[in-house]
Amino acid sequence: MRVKIDLYSDTKTRPTPGMREAIAQADVGDEQHMEDPTVLRLVERCAALLGHEAAVFLPSGTMANEIAVLVHCRAGDEIVAHRDSHILNFEGGAAAALAGAMVRPVEGPKGMFDAETLANAIRPNARHLPRSRLMVVEQTTNLGGGAIWNTEAIDNVLRIARKHELAAHMDGARLMNASVASRVPCVRFAGSFDSVFLDFTKGLGAPVGAILAGSEGFIDEAWRWKQRLGGSMRQAGMMAQACLYALDHHVDRLSDDHENAMLLAQEIGRIDGVEAEPVETNMVFMDVSGTGLTAAEFNRRLATHDVRVSVQGEWRLRAVTHLDVSREDIFEAAAAIRAVAGGAG
Ligand SMILES: *Cc1c(COP(=O)(O)O)cnc(C)c1O
Repeated sequence: MRVKIDLYSDTKTRPTPGMREAIAQADVGDEQHMEDPTVLRLVERCAALLGHEAAVFLPSGTMANEIAVLVHCRAGDEIVAHRDSHILNFEGGAAAALAGAMVRPVEGPKGMFDAETLANAIRPNARHLPRSRLMVVEQTTNLGGGAIWNTEAIDNVLRIARKHELAAHMDGARLMNASVASRVPCVRFAGSFDSVFLDFTKGLGAPVGAILAGSEGFIDEAWRWKQRLGGSMRQAGMMAQACLYALDHHVDRLSDDHENAMLLAQEIGRIDGVEAEPVETNMVFMDVSGTGLTAAEFNRRLATHDVRVSVQGEWRLRAVTHLDVSREDIFEAAAAIRAVAGGAG
């Protein structure tokens, strides 16, 4: 289904004419033999951007998270992650299926957990217990509402992870949104983790690609898993060029998405029966229980107005702004939401 205003996710972006032009000009080679000059340029630039020694280019963020798990964990190890995290909920059980690792879900507001919660979830060292091995922080939190872990919250959980000798991985699918919204460089958020992934197919608007960064030793091991999983590529410079283009042209403009999300939440604030959660980046979660319609029914009716959002619970919907959504679209989407809410009774 294609709709005029697609707020389902920031994955719905399509490459712009400028990006397609850049892709067409890409200098390419055999990626898995380290012969693709464009991929080499991208990984070097991203390693510096994220504050790590090295990086590897991958087809998806899911593969980046799973390779991180495979490098950090052995079968029987335990991963501490938020109950609503992507790694636990949306990767087909891959941590268990591929690495034999278990995820220990922890709670906390807005998709985040604090140092005390982490400390309580870490197992003592005893042979009856799983070995706590990895902590995962999602920046920004997806189901947590696009919320930002600030540097203090990050430093606090990292300190506990270090104390208990856990590895630390940042699921930075939307790290760039956090960086732009809070004016904190990516390296300050991600540089002290053992590994970090950044997605290019969300707000950055590339068609394919994610970067996983870490130490030289970590990336050597990551390459072994990339090969095993069939993630090694050939003339991937076509896609890396799109990612480089995104770094040059689509980073600063993320603030437009954030403004549009704020605007949408403001507009929703004037609609009876619909309640928007506070907005930090490019996501607007709303509760429609006041209309008497379920989220699924609300979304179905929105589609008749050529607007789509995603269903995230019985009464909860999520709208995500991105580069294919203009300020005018926001007013139109808000009008559609008002019409559906108004016609509910
Ligand atoms: C989208 C997403 C991923 C996975 O990325 P893909 O490129 O879609 O595989 C991982 N973590 C979070 C928080 C995400 O939003």
